[in-house]
Amino acid sequence: MNHDSRHSLQSDSLAWIDERMQQIDDQHLRRVLKQRGSAQAAELVIDGKTLVNFSSNDYLGIANDPRLIQAANDAAERYGWGSGASPLITGHSELHRQLEEALATFEQTESALLFPTGYAANIGTITALADADTIIFSDAKNHASIIDGCRLSGGTIRIYRHGDCDHLESQLKELSGKRTAQQKFLIVTDGLFSMDGDLAPLRELTRLAEAYNAMLMVDEAHATGVLGSNGRGTCEHFGIRSECIIKVGTLSKALGSLGGFVCGPQKLVDWLVNRSRTLIFSTAAPAAVCAAGLAALKIVQEEPERRERLAKLSGDLRQSLVTEGFRVGKSETQIIPVMLEDPERTMRASGDLRSAGYLVPGIRPPSVPEGESLLRISLSCDHSDEMVSGLIDAMNLSRNGTNSQ
Ligand SMILES: *Cc1c(COP(=O)(O)O)cnc(C)c1O
Repeated sequence: MNHDSRHSLQSDSLAWIDERMQQIDDQHLRRVLKQRGSAQAAELVIDGKTLVNFSSNDYLGIANDPRLIQAANDAAERYGWGSGASPLITGHSELHRQLEEALATFEQTESALLFPTGYAANIGTITALADADTIIFSDAKNHASIIDGCRLSGGTIRIYRHGDCDHLESQLKELSGKRTAQQKFLIVTDGLFSMDGDLAPLRELTRLAEAYNAMLMVDEAHATGVLGSNGRGTCEHFGIRSECIIKVGTLSKALGSLGGFVCGPQKLVDWLVNRSRTLIFSTAAPAAVCAAGLAALKIVQEEPERRERLAKLSGDLRQSLVTEGFRVGKSETQIIPVMLEDPERTMRASGDLRSAGYLVPGIRPPSVPEGESLLRISLSCDHSDEMVSGLIDAMNLSRNGTNSQ
């Protein structure tokens, strides 16, 4: 029997995928990869077509800044490209350490620790903090990386209604009654929620964490560089400087680079270095990536006008959308959802906008709950006023087209 005929006798062990993909298609939920043929900027070439980009997380227009490119080039000349190993072996370069120190200074914490991505930072931190003896209180709209970290930790997960501190407190109260001496509590939340653009009630969460002796972890992925007068994120926005908050951030969004990080007390970092599996068992980012991160952090600190323009653009666009009768939920930030509920309608609107030259992603289950599909507009300080007014016009046209059908 030759190789080919043996192969053809086998049953297709992946046949189940055909049926499942058909279900996905029936629900208008198929996802496909697009190809970007240009640098990340306010305008993009996607699948060969130039579009105004309202879909990226590069909120401060830093991803394509020549200073990052120069810094990465210089570092690659000196340190080469690949990092060769995980941080505890030989992957952690002098630039990794410099960036960690710069992040700790920026965040005003004792220490900071880099991870390859924000996703890895969340998984690695939650699984190192929580174990079978931990109860994790998690906001219903937390990011997937938080959810996955909670599940992997083996702790007991209690989900509280989105932003609802009364609901959280009732759960804390109930479980405090039965709390054993070694049992830990961990409250975990996005600072700025990635789909709704609203903020966690951090003052209240800090109070509850203190009252119930719970650890509090805040994921600042979309807020770092953007919120607070110095760009330190949601905590700074609310004027909270608690030594106890465990802050997770990413260099991949407003900082236009790549890499996750955790900030907090030195003992937390020491613990993560010893116990965080996504740090220990994954190759460190190239030193050149850290050089770009350092350049980005400098821009965030030296050019506050970027976040000021972003805040102004966001406020104006939200106002205009509300005036035009669109539902933007509770957004207070540069992430502005337009609630369309139905996935098919959402994808049709996204397609209309794309034909008109605007890239605005439709967000469907499982990224959002059933019945909560939305267009996710994300702004950059590099958007011109004309780009934003053009988007509103295109959205009006799309809606009128849809209504007349
Ligand atoms: C994007 C995101 C992450 C993951 O960060 P990456 O650096 O992209 O891996 C974590 N948390 C939230 C809330 C995010 O939106």
